[in-house]
Amino acid sequence: MKADKEIRLTFHNRGLRSYIEVDLCGECPRQDDKGCCGHYSPVFYSTDLAYLALNQPDLLDLIFIQPHLTILDASVTVNNEIDGSSYRCRFHKREGGCLLEQQERESVCRHFVCPGINWQQEPALESWQRFFEGLEDYEIALHARIAQRLEDEGLTLRNPGTRDKFFEVLRDIYVEETRVIPEFIAKQARDQEVLLLRPLSYGEEWELFYKAHK
Ligand code: SF4
Repeated sequence: MKADKEIRLTFHNRGLRSYIEVDLCGECPRQDDKGCCGHYSPVFYSTDLAYLALNQPDLLDLIFIQPHLTILDASVTVNNEIDGSSYRCRFHKREGGCLLEQQERESVCRHFVCPGINWQQEPALESWQRFFEGLEDYEIALHARIAQRLEDEGLTLRNPGTRDKFFEVLRDIYVEETRVIPEFIAKQARDQEVLLLRPLSYGEEWELFYKAHK
């Protein structure tokens, strides 16, 4: 029989750097010291790269020195490494978890909550569900606009020789494009903490992947 556990979720509205904190991660039911970060390769889009360029430029160096990057015109994927029977994100350490602070992570890392918690089923959290859906659409559209403007300037991340110029122009475009805060962000609460009671299972029985609807 599965035992119920009280799980604390904290939603943080920080615009494009919003995130969901889950206190269960510290004692992940997967019990493999990596949980969801054992299956994911973070993808940093132009919006993430611009934030880092403006606030933590040293982390851009950390990203670009990683082995096995997939570099596209305006995004970079830090491919994970094989670790036992699964993988491990290159930023995940056995001791202490992710090296990056929440706001430095890319969107999937900031928004993901494992399906066993399924917070989206709570009617009281509907405004947060709409908020994170809106954020995803906003970020995709913003990335597309920024990527197009960089392309128009003849700049691509694929060319290491013009990378400094790329980030210089990216910073300016990002500041200009994000000057007006969308209404759905401005009117959402800044933070909210909730407690949810959920039955836990352990090891591979604790699912990390959302099943596709039939
Ligand atoms: S960047 Fe951090 S949160 Fe994202 S997969 Fe890697 S270790 Fe996990």
